Amino acid sequence: MAEQKINERMEKIVSLCKRRGFIFQSSEIYGGLNGFWDYGPLGAELKRNVKDYWWKAMTQKREDVVGLEASIIMHPKIWEASGHTTTFSDPMVDCLLTKNRFRADQVQPQSGVAYFYSGAKDATGKELSDAFSVLVQKGKPPESARKVATQFYEQRGMTGVQLLGERSELVENSTKYNPENGSLLTEARPFNLMFETHTGPIKSPENIAYLRPETAQAIFVQFKNVLETARQKVPFGICQIGKAFRNEINPRNYIFRSREFEQMELEFFIKPDEVAAKTPALTDVAEGEPQPNWGWEQWHKYWVEQRVRWYESIGLGRDTLDFYWQKKEELAHYAKATVDILFKFPFGTEELEGIAARGNFDLSQHQKFSGKSMEYFDEETRDKYVPHVIEPSAGVDRLILALVCNAFNEEEVTDDKGNKEVRTVLKFHPRVAPVKVGVFPLLKNKPELVKKAQEVRDLLRPHMTVFYDEAGAIGRRYRRQDEAGTPFGITIDFDTLGEKPELRDTVTLRDRDTMKQERMDISELLPFLLSRIR
Ligand code: ATP
Repeated sequence: MAEQKINERMEKIVSLCKRRGFIFQSSEIYGGLNGFWDYGPLGAELKRNVKDYWWKAMTQKREDVVGLEASIIMHPKIWEASGHTTTFSDPMVDCLLTKNRFRADQVQPQSGVAYFYSGAKDATGKELSDAFSVLVQKGKPPESARKVATQFYEQRGMTGVQLLGERSELVENSTKYNPENGSLLTEARPFNLMFETHTGPIKSPENIAYLRPETAQAIFVQFKNVLETARQKVPFGICQIGKAFRNEINPRNYIFRSREFEQMELEFFIKPDEVAAKTPALTDVAEGEPQPNWGWEQWHKYWVEQRVRWYESIGLGRDTLDFYWQKKEELAHYAKATVDILFKFPFGTEELEGIAARGNFDLSQHQKFSGKSMEYFDEETRDKYVPHVIEPSAGVDRLILALVCNAFNEEEVTDDKGNKEVRTVLKFHPRVAPVKVGVFPLLKNKPELVKKAQEVRDLLRPHMTVFYDEAGAIGRRYRRQDEAGTPFGITIDFDTLGEKPELRDTVTLRDRDTMKQERMDISELLPFLLSRIR
């Protein structure tokens, strides 16, 4: 897609999300806060459905995974043990002119002519020896570089700037310059992404605490408690959904990279390969089903497949996804393999979830830092070991964005009068759709229709989200629900009341995607809808 088309599509998505109450800028009336977002009524339902469905699939429907809900602020030693205090940082560079901050690894390489200045002189005779340089496109006059350099020295208190020591050089694929204005950037320096706070009334170094940058560590530090109370045996998993915070240098792409977000993580504890090898395989197990003698590679493959199937089950088909296997040199020193599941967003193919085989690094670190044993005694093989782990770690907000981008469609349709119009529709999978069904009396000024429609609404409401709407022409009401992504619409008309006796107590059921309507008995509605939304 051409750049303009991509931007147009994203702009339409962002505008629809605001207009229909999916996503708002946080603190909007105060000008917003960069990197923070709020979910409106439809967004909150969508998000809740995604999290509930993940929770169901990952723990409630499985024998071998249990849940946890830990506090956001935890003992600061946890982040020392996990390595976050020392290594959880991104390289950061600043523009020497605008002071805008960038992640060094996200600066696009550029080519052109770099103009270097050794310093500047002022009309008053003042001299500055701060070196500076500017990158301009090949063929552009030196004046454009001089203009930027002059601004640089003016910002340092000089007037009537005379630039000193100008020289130029051809530069290829350099990431030292700000792509927006050509100004030199500072050298990269690490920037820790953890938000710091203090516990208790005294703000002192001993009271420093952090907002968790991931939910995973809580699972590791509660491993023993869960093991002892949940009556699980390795292999088994602990999962958690919750907020995480990262002071990202450059929040971008709408809710894709923000500073407060939610994660859905599973830590699946497995036997070290040498112990697994001693365990006999089960008979009568279907191919692909977990086996007690699986090593880390099989478990890793298994979880990648499980996660892809889960994405498919909420409407993200394999064709919308992609995979990135981290290369050996990209892996963390303790990781055996990491695969990222990517989604083809309009702005590029980017990570939704990472699935890592992390060895026993985390539990061993906590054992070392806390002095408490993290060992597991395997009754079957009589081995004692620190379990290894497979970690599927997904971001809720990125997934919401993927679902909205995937669902967004503009279609040309012809109305009853033969006029062509554009129908905007969010084709969410019924499982995640914020509202499952719209209920409409054909006319609002006919009390019998309204009464019957309200009866249908009340019949369905205990089982699903229902939107009751009696305002405006029926076509307009359908369109409003199309934009909200509501998969079904029910209309109560005069036939429902028995105008044609054979149609008494039937309604029309409209399918959002095909726009086809069929008549259905009211008594059949609930089982039919439940079969589609569960
Ligand atoms: P990235 O490389 O994009 O910064 P990451 O590899 O650091 O992400 P992980 O630490 O593996 O991410 O976190 C697991 C998941 O949490 C990611 O796949 C993503 O879905 C989500 N996530 C991470 N950082 C953010 C963020 N700043 N905003 C929204 N979601 C995030």
